[in-house]
Amino acid sequence: MDNVLQRIGVRRVINAVGPATRLGGIAPDIEVVEAMRSAVSYPVRIDELMSASGHHLARLLGVPAVYITAGAAAGLALGTAVAIARGDSGLADSLPRTEAPHGILIQAAHRDPYDRAVEVGGGRLVAVGYPEGTHLGELERSLTDDVVAVLHRPGRPGNGASLREVARVAHERGKLVLVDAAVHVPPADRLAALLDDGADLVAMSGGKAFGGPQASGLLCGAPELVSLVGRFHQDMDERATTWPLPSGDATPPRHGVGRIAKVGREQVAGLVVAVERYLEGRSTWLDRGRAELDIAEETLVRAGVPVRRERLHSLDVDILEVTAPGDPDVFIHRLRDRAVPVFVGESEVWRGVLTLNPMGLLAGDGRMLAEAIVEVRG
Ligand SMILES: *Cc1c(COP(=O)(O)O)cnc(C)c1O
Repeated sequence: MDNVLQRIGVRRVINAVGPATRLGGIAPDIEVVEAMRSAVSYPVRIDELMSASGHHLARLLGVPAVYITAGAAAGLALGTAVAIARGDSGLADSLPRTEAPHGILIQAAHRDPYDRAVEVGGGRLVAVGYPEGTHLGELERSLTDDVVAVLHRPGRPGNGASLREVARVAHERGKLVLVDAAVHVPPADRLAALLDDGADLVAMSGGKAFGGPQASGLLCGAPELVSLVGRFHQDMDERATTWPLPSGDATPPRHGVGRIAKVGREQVAGLVVAVERYLEGRSTWLDRGRAELDIAEETLVRAGVPVRRERLHSLDVDILEVTAPGDPDVFIHRLRDRAVPVFVGESEVWRGVLTLNPMGLLAGDGRMLAEAIVEVRG
Protein backbone atom coordinates (compact mmCIF):
# COMPACT_ATOMS: atom_id res chain seq x y z
CA MET A 1 0.00 0.00 0.00
CA ASP A 2 1.36 3.40 -0.95
CA ASN A 3 2.01 5.47 2.13
CA VAL A 4 2.71 9.08 1.22
CA LEU A 5 4.75 9.70 4.37
CA GLN A 6 7.02 6.81 3.48
CA ARG A 7 7.16 7.94 -0.17
CA ILE A 8 8.47 11.38 0.79
CA GLY A 9 11.13 9.82 2.98
CA VAL A 10 9.74 10.15 6.49
CA ARG A 11 10.78 7.31 8.75
CA ARG A 12 8.16 5.35 10.64
CA VAL A 13 8.90 5.20 14.36
CA ILE A 14 7.72 3.01 17.23
CA ASN A 15 5.78 5.14 19.68
CA ALA A 16 5.90 3.69 23.19
CA VAL A 17 5.43 7.15 24.73
CA GLY A 18 1.65 7.25 24.41
CA PRO A 19 -0.56 10.03 22.97
CA ALA A 20 2.43 12.32 22.39
CA THR A 21 1.91 15.10 19.87
CA ARG A 22 5.60 15.15 18.94
CA LEU A 23 5.12 11.58 17.64
CA GLY A 24 1.80 12.24 15.96
CA GLY A 25 -0.35 10.87 18.78
CA ILE A 26 -2.24 7.60 18.50
CA ALA A 27 -3.75 5.78 15.47
CA PRO A 28 -7.55 6.10 15.67
CA ASP A 29 -9.87 3.23 14.73
CA ILE A 30 -10.50 2.84 10.99
CA GLU A 31 -14.17 3.82 11.52
CA VAL A 32 -12.97 7.20 12.81
CA VAL A 33 -10.79 7.67 9.72
CA GLU A 34 -13.72 6.61 7.49
CA ALA A 35 -15.90 9.25 9.14
CA MET A 36 -13.24 11.86 8.40
CA ARG A 37 -13.05 10.72 4.78
CA SER A 38 -16.79 10.95 4.19
CA ALA A 39 -17.04 14.35 5.90
CA VAL A 40 -14.65 16.08 3.50
CA SER A 41 -16.91 15.47 0.50
CA TYR A 42 -19.97 16.89 2.24
CA PRO A 43 -19.99 20.71 2.11
CA VAL A 44 -21.66 22.38 5.08
CA ARG A 45 -22.01 25.66 6.91
CA ILE A 46 -19.42 25.54 9.67
CA ASP A 47 -21.59 27.39 12.18
CA GLU A 48 -24.30 24.78 11.66
CA LEU A 49 -21.76 21.94 11.90
CA MET A 50 -20.27 23.26 15.14
CA SER A 51 -23.68 23.74 16.67
CA ALA A 52 -25.03 20.30 15.67
CA SER A 53 -21.87 18.45 16.66
CA GLY A 54 -21.79 20.31 19.97
CA HIS A 55 -25.39 19.37 20.75
CA HIS A 56 -24.74 15.76 19.83
CA LEU A 57 -21.62 15.44 22.00
CA ALA A 58 -23.21 17.34 24.90
CA ARG A 59 -26.05 14.83 24.97
CA LEU A 60 -23.66 11.86 24.76
CA LEU A 61 -21.30 13.20 27.43
CA GLY A 62 -24.03 14.40 29.77
CA VAL A 63 -22.82 18.01 29.87
CA PRO A 64 -24.82 21.19 29.17
CA ALA A 65 -22.97 22.29 26.00
CA VAL A 66 -19.92 21.40 23.88
CA TYR A 67 -17.84 23.16 21.21
CA ILE A 68 -15.33 21.10 19.21
CA THR A 69 -11.85 22.63 19.16
CA ALA A 70 -8.49 21.78 17.60
CA GLY A 71 -7.34 20.29 20.92
CA ALA A 72 -7.33 21.01 24.64
CA ALA A 73 -4.72 23.75 24.21
CA ALA A 74 -6.90 25.47 21.60
CA GLY A 75 -9.79 25.10 24.03
CA LEU A 76 -7.83 26.93 26.73
CA ALA A 77 -7.05 29.80 24.34
CA LEU A 78 -10.69 30.04 23.27
CA GLY A 79 -11.92 29.79 26.85
CA THR A 80 -9.58 32.63 27.81
CA ALA A 81 -10.92 34.81 24.99
CA VAL A 82 -14.50 34.10 26.13
CA ALA A 83 -13.57 34.97 29.72
CA ILE A 84 -12.11 38.33 28.67
CA ALA A 85 -14.51 39.52 25.97
CA ARG A 86 -17.71 37.53 26.63
CA GLY A 87 -20.22 38.86 24.07
CA ASP A 88 -18.53 42.22 23.41
CA SER A 89 -17.45 42.47 19.74
CA GLY A 90 -15.16 45.46 20.37
CA LEU A 91 -13.34 43.58 23.09
CA ALA A 92 -13.16 40.48 20.91
CA ASP A 93 -11.45 42.56 18.22
CA SER A 94 -8.92 43.94 20.71
CA LEU A 95 -7.59 40.50 21.59
CA PRO A 96 -4.96 39.27 22.17
CA ARG A 97 -3.74 42.73 23.31
CA THR A 98 -6.43 44.41 25.32
CA GLU A 99 -6.67 47.22 27.85
CA ALA A 100 -9.65 45.49 29.44
CA PRO A 101 -9.18 43.17 32.46
CA HIS A 102 -7.41 40.01 31.28
CA GLY A 103 -5.67 38.46 34.29
CA ILE A 104 -5.96 34.68 34.69
CA LEU A 105 -4.97 33.31 38.09
CA ILE A 106 -3.42 29.89 38.52
CA GLN A 107 -2.24 28.02 41.62
CA ALA A 108 1.55 27.74 41.32
CA ALA A 109 1.41 23.93 41.49
CA HIS A 110 -0.96 23.89 38.49
CA ARG A 111 1.47 25.59 36.12
CA ASP A 112 2.27 23.69 32.94
CA PRO A 113 3.91 24.47 29.58
CA TYR A 114 0.41 24.50 28.04
CA ASP A 115 -0.16 27.76 29.93
CA ARG A 116 1.04 29.46 26.75
CA ALA A 117 -2.45 28.87 25.35
CA VAL A 118 -3.86 31.37 27.85
CA GLU A 119 -1.54 34.07 26.54
CA VAL A 120 -2.46 33.28 22.94
CA GLY A 121 -6.08 33.92 23.91
CA GLY A 122 -5.15 37.33 25.32
CA GLY A 123 -4.81 36.42 29.01
CA ARG A 124 -2.03 37.35 31.40
CA LEU A 125 -1.28 34.44 33.67
CA VAL A 126 -0.61 35.20 37.35
CA ALA A 127 0.66 32.33 39.52
CA VAL A 128 -0.45 32.41 43.15
CA GLY A 129 1.22 30.58 46.03
CA TYR A 130 4.04 28.06 45.77
CA PRO A 131 4.68 24.72 44.07
CA GLU A 132 3.89 22.91 47.33
CA GLY A 133 0.56 24.65 47.72
CA THR A 134 -1.71 27.67 47.50
CA HIS A 135 -3.97 28.82 50.35
CA LEU A 136 -7.51 29.59 49.37
CA GLY A 137 -7.08 32.99 51.07
CA GLU A 138 -4.08 33.82 48.88
CA LEU A 139 -6.11 33.06 45.81
CA GLU A 140 -9.07 35.02 47.12
CA ARG A 141 -6.91 38.10 47.80
CA SER A 142 -5.57 37.91 44.24
CA LEU A 143 -9.03 38.01 42.62
CA THR A 144 -8.72 41.71 41.85
CA ASP A 145 -10.54 43.81 39.25
CA ASP A 146 -8.02 43.03 36.48
CA VAL A 147 -8.67 39.27 36.84
CA VAL A 148 -11.31 37.55 34.71
CA ALA A 149 -10.81 33.87 35.48
CA VAL A 150 -8.92 31.16 37.35
CA LEU A 151 -7.28 28.31 35.42
CA HIS A 152 -7.47 25.06 37.39
CA ARG A 153 -5.64 21.78 36.71
CA PRO A 154 -7.11 18.98 38.80
CA GLY A 155 -4.99 16.20 40.21
CA ARG A 156 -1.81 18.20 40.68
CA PRO A 157 0.25 17.40 43.77
CA GLY A 158 0.55 19.94 46.57
CA ASN A 159 -1.73 21.44 49.16
CA GLY A 160 -3.86 23.38 46.74
CA ALA A 161 -7.35 24.75 46.94
CA SER A 162 -10.00 22.37 45.60
CA LEU A 163 -12.02 23.13 42.48
CA ARG A 164 -15.14 23.59 44.61
CA GLU A 165 -13.41 26.11 46.86
CA VAL A 166 -11.87 27.94 43.91
CA ALA A 167 -15.20 28.10 42.09
CA ARG A 168 -16.96 29.45 45.18
CA VAL A 169 -14.58 32.38 45.70
CA ALA A 170 -14.25 33.08 41.96
CA HIS A 171 -18.00 33.12 41.35
CA GLU A 172 -18.60 35.40 44.35
CA ARG A 173 -16.56 37.98 42.46
CA GLY A 174 -17.99 37.29 39.00
CA LYS A 175 -14.89 35.48 37.68
CA LEU A 176 -14.96 32.32 35.57
CA VAL A 177 -13.18 29.03 36.27
CA LEU A 178 -11.45 27.33 33.34
CA VAL A 179 -10.32 23.72 33.77
CA ASP A 180 -7.62 21.95 31.78
CA ALA A 181 -8.89 18.36 31.76
CA ALA A 182 -6.82 17.20 28.76
CA VAL A 183 -5.86 13.98 30.56
CA HIS A 184 -8.85 13.60 32.87
CA VAL A 185 -10.90 11.21 30.77
CA PRO A 186 -11.30 8.33 31.54
CA PRO A 187 -13.77 8.24 33.07
CA ALA A 188 -15.89 10.23 30.62
CA ASP A 189 -18.27 11.37 33.36
CA ARG A 190 -15.36 13.33 34.85
CA LEU A 191 -16.29 16.17 32.48
CA ALA A 192 -19.77 16.49 34.00
CA ALA A 193 -18.29 16.08 37.51
CA LEU A 194 -15.87 18.98 36.96
CA LEU A 195 -18.77 21.18 35.83
CA ASP A 196 -20.75 20.07 38.90
CA ASP A 197 -17.81 21.13 41.05
CA GLY A 198 -18.10 24.62 39.64
CA ALA A 199 -15.97 24.74 36.47
CA ASP A 200 -17.43 27.09 33.85
CA LEU A 201 -15.47 25.80 30.85
CA VAL A 202 -13.59 22.51 30.69
CA ALA A 203 -11.03 21.79 27.93
CA MET A 204 -10.39 18.19 26.89
CA SER A 205 -8.23 16.51 24.24
CA GLY A 206 -9.78 14.49 21.42
CA GLY A 207 -6.56 12.70 20.52
CA LYS A 208 -5.86 11.18 23.92
CA ALA A 209 -8.27 8.82 25.73
CA PHE A 210 -11.13 9.36 23.26
CA GLY A 211 -9.01 7.99 20.41
CA GLY A 212 -10.10 10.80 18.11
CA PRO A 213 -8.17 12.82 15.51
CA GLN A 214 -4.86 14.17 16.79
CA ALA A 215 -5.90 17.78 16.10
CA SER A 216 -9.24 17.64 17.91
CA GLY A 217 -10.61 18.41 21.33
CA LEU A 218 -13.58 19.95 23.01
CA LEU A 219 -14.62 22.71 25.32
CA CYS A 220 -17.66 22.01 27.46
CA GLY A 221 -19.64 24.08 29.91
CA ALA A 222 -22.58 26.37 30.36
CA PRO A 223 -24.55 26.99 27.13
CA GLU A 224 -24.37 30.79 27.50
CA LEU A 225 -20.54 30.61 27.46
CA VAL A 226 -20.11 27.76 24.97
CA SER A 227 -22.41 29.56 22.50
CA LEU A 228 -19.91 32.47 22.46
CA VAL A 229 -16.91 30.33 21.46
CA GLY A 230 -17.68 30.45 17.72
CA ARG A 231 -17.22 34.24 17.71
CA PHE A 232 -13.55 33.75 18.55
CA HIS A 233 -13.05 30.77 16.27
CA GLN A 234 -15.07 30.86 13.06
CA ASP A 235 -14.46 32.97 9.97
CA MET A 236 -16.03 36.41 10.13
CA ASP A 237 -15.99 37.06 6.39
CA GLU A 238 -19.51 38.24 6.85
CA ARG A 239 -21.55 41.38 6.30
CA ALA A 240 -23.09 42.63 9.53
CA THR A 241 -26.57 42.33 8.07
CA THR A 242 -26.25 38.63 7.23
CA TRP A 243 -24.04 37.53 10.12
CA PRO A 244 -25.19 34.11 11.35
CA LEU A 245 -23.90 33.84 14.92
CA PRO A 246 -26.09 34.86 17.87
CA SER A 247 -25.15 38.27 19.21
CA GLY A 248 -26.37 41.14 21.32
CA ASP A 249 -24.21 43.39 19.15
CA ALA A 250 -25.25 44.99 15.89
CA THR A 251 -21.73 44.67 14.54
CA PRO A 252 -20.00 41.30 14.40
CA PRO A 253 -16.37 40.98 15.47
CA ARG A 254 -13.69 40.28 12.88
CA HIS A 255 -11.66 37.05 12.78
CA GLY A 256 -11.11 35.99 16.38
CA VAL A 257 -7.89 34.96 18.09
CA GLY A 258 -8.91 31.33 17.78
CA ARG A 259 -9.12 31.40 13.99
CA ILE A 260 -5.50 30.18 13.93
CA ALA A 261 -6.70 26.92 15.49
CA LYS A 262 -9.40 26.18 12.96
CA VAL A 263 -11.26 22.89 12.91
CA GLY A 264 -12.13 21.13 9.65
CA ARG A 265 -15.13 18.93 8.95
CA GLU A 266 -12.84 15.92 9.21
CA GLN A 267 -11.84 16.70 12.81
CA VAL A 268 -15.47 17.18 13.79
CA ALA A 269 -16.65 13.96 12.13
CA GLY A 270 -13.70 11.98 13.49
CA LEU A 271 -14.16 13.20 17.05
CA VAL A 272 -17.92 12.56 17.00
CA VAL A 273 -17.41 8.95 15.91
CA ALA A 274 -14.47 8.45 18.30
CA VAL A 275 -16.53 9.66 21.28
CA GLU A 276 -19.51 7.51 20.24
CA ARG A 277 -17.28 4.44 20.01
CA TYR A 278 -15.52 5.27 23.25
CA LEU A 279 -18.78 5.62 25.18
CA GLU A 280 -20.23 2.45 23.66
CA GLY A 281 -17.07 0.50 24.52
CA ARG A 282 -16.46 -0.24 20.84
CA SER A 283 -13.01 1.36 20.44
CA THR A 284 -10.37 -1.17 19.43
CA TRP A 285 -7.17 0.90 19.08
CA LEU A 286 -6.26 0.61 22.74
CA ASP A 287 -6.93 -3.16 22.85
CA ARG A 288 -4.42 -3.49 20.02
CA GLY A 289 -1.86 -1.46 21.97
CA ARG A 290 -2.45 -3.49 25.13
CA ALA A 291 -1.95 -6.76 23.24
CA GLU A 292 1.31 -5.39 21.82
CA LEU A 293 2.46 -4.37 25.30
CA ASP A 294 1.78 -7.94 26.50
CA ILE A 295 3.95 -9.24 23.64
CA ALA A 296 6.69 -6.76 24.57
CA GLU A 297 6.52 -7.92 28.19
CA GLU A 298 6.75 -11.63 27.26
CA THR A 299 9.64 -11.00 24.89
CA LEU A 300 11.55 -8.94 27.48
CA VAL A 301 10.99 -11.44 30.28
CA ARG A 302 12.07 -14.31 28.05
CA ALA A 303 15.29 -12.41 27.28
CA GLY A 304 15.90 -11.92 31.02
CA VAL A 305 15.13 -8.19 31.10
CA PRO A 306 13.44 -7.23 34.37
CA VAL A 307 10.17 -5.35 33.79
CA ARG A 308 7.53 -4.06 36.14
CA ARG A 309 3.88 -3.45 35.36
CA GLU A 310 2.53 -0.16 36.66
CA ARG A 311 -0.87 1.45 36.46
CA LEU A 312 -0.95 4.86 34.80
CA HIS A 313 -3.96 6.09 36.74
CA SER A 314 -4.41 9.32 34.79
CA LEU A 315 -5.09 7.44 31.55
CA ASP A 316 -6.31 4.18 33.11
CA VAL A 317 -3.79 1.98 31.30
CA ASP A 318 -1.04 -0.39 32.36
CA ILE A 319 2.48 0.59 31.37
CA LEU A 320 5.77 -1.30 31.63
CA GLU A 321 8.76 0.00 33.51
CA VAL A 322 12.21 -1.04 32.29
CA THR A 323 15.43 -0.09 34.06
CA ALA A 324 18.00 1.53 31.81
CA PRO A 325 21.45 0.15 32.55
CA GLY A 326 24.12 2.87 32.66
CA ASP A 327 23.34 6.38 31.49
CA PRO A 328 19.64 6.51 30.53
CA ASP A 329 20.28 9.31 28.01
CA VAL A 330 22.74 7.11 26.12
CA PHE A 331 20.18 4.29 26.17
CA ILE A 332 17.45 6.58 24.85
CA HIS A 333 19.71 7.86 22.07
CA ARG A 334 20.60 4.31 21.00
CA LEU A 335 16.90 3.43 20.80
CA ARG A 336 16.21 6.52 18.70
CA ASP A 337 19.18 5.92 16.39
CA ARG A 338 17.88 2.59 15.13
CA ALA A 339 16.65 2.02 11.56
CA VAL A 340 13.12 2.04 12.99
CA PRO A 341 13.54 4.64 15.76
CA VAL A 342 12.05 3.65 19.11
CA PHE A 343 10.64 6.27 21.49
CA VAL A 344 9.97 5.42 25.14
CA GLY A 345 8.53 7.43 28.02
CA GLU A 346 11.09 9.54 29.87
CA SER A 347 9.12 10.93 32.79
CA GLU A 348 10.75 8.46 35.24
CA VAL A 349 14.29 8.82 33.91
CA TRP A 350 15.31 10.65 37.10
CA ARG A 351 15.20 7.23 38.82
CA GLY A 352 16.77 5.35 35.90
CA VAL A 353 13.47 3.97 34.61
CA LEU A 354 12.06 4.05 31.07
CA THR A 355 8.33 3.56 30.56
CA LEU A 356 6.47 1.78 27.77
CA ASN A 357 2.92 2.99 27.10
CA PRO A 358 0.55 0.90 24.93
CA MET A 359 -1.56 3.75 23.48
CA GLY A 360 0.57 4.44 20.39
CA LEU A 361 1.63 0.86 19.60
CA LEU A 362 0.66 -0.69 16.25
CA ALA A 363 0.45 -4.35 15.23
CA GLY A 364 3.93 -5.85 15.34
CA ASP A 365 5.40 -3.05 17.47
CA GLY A 366 5.48 -5.04 20.72
CA ARG A 367 8.05 -7.54 19.52
CA MET A 368 10.15 -4.94 17.67
CA LEU A 369 10.11 -2.68 20.73
CA ALA A 370 11.24 -5.48 23.04
CA GLU A 371 13.91 -6.67 20.63
CA ALA A 372 15.27 -3.14 20.34
CA ILE A 373 15.53 -2.86 24.12
CA VAL A 374 17.21 -6.27 24.40
CA GLU A 375 19.75 -5.36 21.69
CA VAL A 376 20.53 -1.94 23.09
CA ARG A 377 21.08 -3.40 26.57
CA GLY A 378 23.65 -5.68 24.88
C1 LIG B 1 -2.01 17.08 26.20
C2 LIG B 1 -2.29 18.22 27.14
C3 LIG B 1 -2.77 19.45 26.65
C4 LIG B 1 -2.92 19.73 25.19
O1 LIG B 1 -3.86 18.93 24.59
P1 LIG B 1 -4.06 18.98 23.00
O2 LIG B 1 -5.36 18.29 22.80
O3 LIG B 1 -2.89 18.25 22.42
O4 LIG B 1 -4.08 20.41 22.60
C5 LIG B 1 -3.07 20.44 27.56
N1 LIG B 1 -2.91 20.25 28.88
C6 LIG B 1 -2.43 19.09 29.39
C7 LIG B 1 -2.28 18.95 30.87
C8 LIG B 1 -2.09 18.05 28.53
O5 LIG B 1 -1.61 16.90 29.02
